[in-house]
Amino acid sequence: MRVAVTGGGGFLGSHLCETLLRRGDEVVCLDDFSTGDPENVAPFIGNPAFELVRTDVSRSIGVAGAVDAVAHLASPASPPDYLRRPLETLAVGSRGTENALRLATHHDARFVLASTSEVYGDPEVHPQDETYWGHVNPIGPRSVYDEAKRFSEAITQAYRTHCGTNTGIVRIFNTYGPRMRPHDGRVVSSFVVQALAGEPLTVYGDGKQTRSFCYVDDLVRGILAMLDRDEPGPVNLGNPVELTVLELADRVLKLTGSQAEVQFHPLPVDDPTRRRPVITRASERLGWRPDVGIEDGLRRTVEWFAARPDDVAAALAAIRGGQQAGVATSVPGPLRATPAAS
Ligand code: NAD
Ligand code: UDP
Repeated sequence: MRVAVTGGGGFLGSHLCETLLRRGDEVVCLDDFSTGDPENVAPFIGNPAFELVRTDVSRSIGVAGAVDAVAHLASPASPPDYLRRPLETLAVGSRGTENALRLATHHDARFVLASTSEVYGDPEVHPQDETYWGHVNPIGPRSVYDEAKRFSEAITQAYRTHCGTNTGIVRIFNTYGPRMRPHDGRVVSSFVVQALAGEPLTVYGDGKQTRSFCYVDDLVRGILAMLDRDEPGPVNLGNPVELTVLELADRVLKLTGSQAEVQFHPLPVDDPTRRRPVITRASERLGWRPDVGIEDGLRRTVEWFAARPDDVAAALAAIRGGQQAGVATSVPGPLRATPAAS
């Protein structure tokens, strides 16, 4: 199968490209590296089954030759990234998604959209299954991402209904693992970098908000299962083991053996209070469930970061710079309005 992967130079995209290549598929990776890293795909360059196209998919997508499937992952994903690039995030969720859908429709190819648990917003229903419509602030700071993804889902569904495109939607919950950018501002990468450097772990709010963390290998298996079937979704992909942010901090400290302290910072505006996927649909329709526990996954992630001390040091300087400027981890000021817990 020849698969076009938009956002293939990013964290999840590069793991997807790698797994596709390993199982014998051909990959066309389309990326503008706005939040990705060419290093992620450097090992595949020279592989005749791999082609890299540097392009902004919000402008247009052209792929020479056959396309059997399109995996549309292009979009900033970390809150600091999408807050820094609000218009680009809306563009790639709207125009970028339509361009990717056109490509799939033109080639009569399977199309899979990487949507997100953010479509559930700050959920009033817990845990979240796919029938829940969500609770999203349409003009809040996170809306550039949340509403872009909700639009992506709507246009994907419209192409399915009106153009006969073979579409599928996966809603991805927080995923972590090797190749996260050390300074991307997400909680796992930030805590690991801080713990390895013995610097305070920056907990936002009182740290009692929850997330459910899925290891990247599990997630990629789920995306592949979706690519290989005609399932329309939406299907939640995530690990239903729910942790508070403080529990995560504690686990990272124990795993790294770090003596670093925990430091409380203001909670970002509209930061969801809790997140846990119901994965019954993924299990029934895709035969999917996560295998890697949080302990094992975090250990592998810590090892990966620990092997890159220069990147960790550089990331720490970037994170600290953001904190000193009052924009922790580069989150813009207006996001950080809620008083700090102490
Ligand atoms: P990432 O930032 O590492 O990867 C996104 C990639 O898309 C980057 O390589 C970036 O350069 C590329 N990109 C962005 N805009 C582009 C454009 N206009 N044209 C071409 N390329 C563009 O993020 P990620 O964590 O790998 O996320 C990948 C996808 O999965 C995103 O769509 C994200 O919304 C979704 N997702 C991720 C998570 C997670 O926890 N990682 C959770 C939910 C959803
Ligand atoms: N968070 C935190 N410290 C950090 C980064 C994030 O306490 O240095 C919190 C954040 O406020 C949120 C949770 O961790 O409650 C997950 O944040 P992340 O940005 O990783 O993902 P998302 O908010 O998109 O789920």
